Amino acid sequence: MPMLLEVEGLHAAYGASRVLHGIGLSMRAGSVTALLGANGAGKTTTLRALCQMAVRTTGTIRIGGERADGRPTERIVRLGVAHVPDGRGTFLALSTEENLRLGAYGRRDRAGVAEDFERVYGYFPRLRERSGQQAGTLSGGEQQMLAIGRALMSRPRLLLLDEPSFGLAPLVVRDIFEIMRRINAEQGVSILLVEQNAALALDIADSVYLMESGRIVLNGTPQEVRGNDAVRRVYLGG
Ligand code: ATP
Repeated sequence: MPMLLEVEGLHAAYGASRVLHGIGLSMRAGSVTALLGANGAGKTTTLRALCQMAVRTTGTIRIGGERADGRPTERIVRLGVAHVPDGRGTFLALSTEENLRLGAYGRRDRAGVAEDFERVYGYFPRLRERSGQQAGTLSGGEQQMLAIGRALMSRPRLLLLDEPSFGLAPLVVRDIFEIMRRINAEQGVSILLVEQNAALALDIADSVYLMESGRIVLNGTPQEVRGNDAVRRVYLGG
């Protein structure tokens, strides 16, 4: 399978504060990759750097073989990347449907957009029921569904998901992860998942990167990572 994402020597800084120190990672098309690490390790910054958002970067980023580093964020969206930021980034004053429509911003294929509305409502029936409701009044789980649904409306090849489980009840998290698994299997959308809950991430991922202080310190399959003593101690509680 071809490489969907190839990153080499990625550095990132907020002003004078350097946060990423030469990250390398790659993802095969169709894969689910988990990015784990302690608070402040630089996971969120890595996702921001990949879409060239809010952070200054150097290094090489290739998406589907095309250089993406130094390109404007809209260009990266057109290369097939959709970012679901931490805090979800939904427009709270707009309705569910308006938020989804914004996800399709810039697309001219009306029939395709209509299909994608159906697809998103198919995955998240709750969003259809609440299509006219103001996003700010949705439950936390519904808002996370909306954030993922909005990202899907750009028909991405690669979804960057920042802590989708954050602040949600375990049953809601289970449902959302099951839907992410289906989106990956049925639509072939690749997922780069930042997740505090390592056990959950290892269940869904086929490749795992572990970050510490702005560097990748371990890469392997979930089995390999589970077998690592330090990982078991720090991230898996035992
Ligand atoms: P968490 O799990 O706590 O979200 P993380 O691994 O996602 O952590 P980042 O959010 O990428 O880590 O943060 C990495 C470092 O960059 C931290 O030291 C953080 O304080 C710093 N940082 C993040 N955003 C900014 C910003 N906008 N301006 C300055 N520093 C920032």
